Amino acid sequence: MSLSERFITPECFPDNVVAYTSTRCSGVSGKATVESNALVNSIAQENDSGNDYVGFNIGAHVGDDIKNVSDNRARLPCSDKITWLEQVHGETVVTLPASSIVADASFSSNAAHFCAVMTADCVPVLLSDRRGKEVSAIHAGWKGLEANIIANAVAHFSSKPSQLVAWVGPAICGECYEVDASLADKFSHYKNSVKQKKETGKYLLNLPNIANLQLARLGIQHITQSNLCTYCQNDLFYSHRKATHDNYGATGRIVSVIGFR
Ligand SMILES: [Zn+2]
Repeated sequence: MSLSERFITPECFPDNVVAYTSTRCSGVSGKATVESNALVNSIAQENDSGNDYVGFNIGAHVGDDIKNVSDNRARLPCSDKITWLEQVHGETVVTLPASSIVADASFSSNAAHFCAVMTADCVPVLLSDRRGKEVSAIHAGWKGLEANIIANAVAHFSSKPSQLVAWVGPAICGECYEVDASLADKFSHYKNSVKQKKETGKYLLNLPNIANLQLARLGIQHITQSNLCTYCQNDLFYSHRKATHDNYGATGRIVSVIGFR
C-alpha cells in the first residue's frame, strides 16, 4: 500500500487493475485552509451544528456544495468511468453498466465501467480475480455485513473464491466503534470482533475484522487489510462517528474505486 497526499493505492491487485481509496487531503470542500477549518470548528461549537466537509469530499448526498463535490470528483483518476451508486445500507450488488444504481456494491468485467463505493466509517472492500478480468467494490457497514453483501458480491465472479484478491480499506477500527449490547450481540459469534469495555460496560465492534472473517469463510485466501482507521485518523479521512462526537451536523465521504487499465 502506498499513500500519496490524496490517494491510498493497494498493491495487492494485478497490474492491469486500477484501485485506490481517496483521503480527505487536498480538495476544495469547505475551502480547505487552516483558517476556515478553525472557523468551521468554532461555529460548530457555538451552534451545536456546522458541517465537517473540509477537504476532498466526494459525497454528493451529504449536503456539501455540489460544485465543490463535482470539482473534487473530477480530480479522481478515471473519474469519467466511475459509476456512482445510491447506497442504502442494503445487500444489493449490481453488474455494470446497470439500469438501477440503488445498491451497495457493484461488479464489473467491462473496462469502460469502474466500481466505486463511498464511506465514512463503514468498510470499503475491493475485489478482483488474480487475472484482473473481474472487479467489485463493496460498501459494508454493519447492516451490509449482517446481510452478507460480501458473499453476494463474491457470487458474481466466474472465478472461484480461492482465485480472488481482496482489500479491506479504511474504516472505523475495533477500538473506536462503540455500540450497544443488541448490536454487539449480532456479531458475537465472530472471533475477536466484539469486546466489552470494563470502564463503561459498553461494547466495541470491529467491522474490518468481521469483513476479513467473512472473506476468509468464503474461501478467499489473499486478503490485505489497510489497518487504517477513519476515526483515529480523522485528519486523513472523514468519520461519521467522529463528526457526531464533535457535534457536526454532517461530514464528507471518501471513495474506494476499482477498474481496469
Ligand atoms: Zn480507530
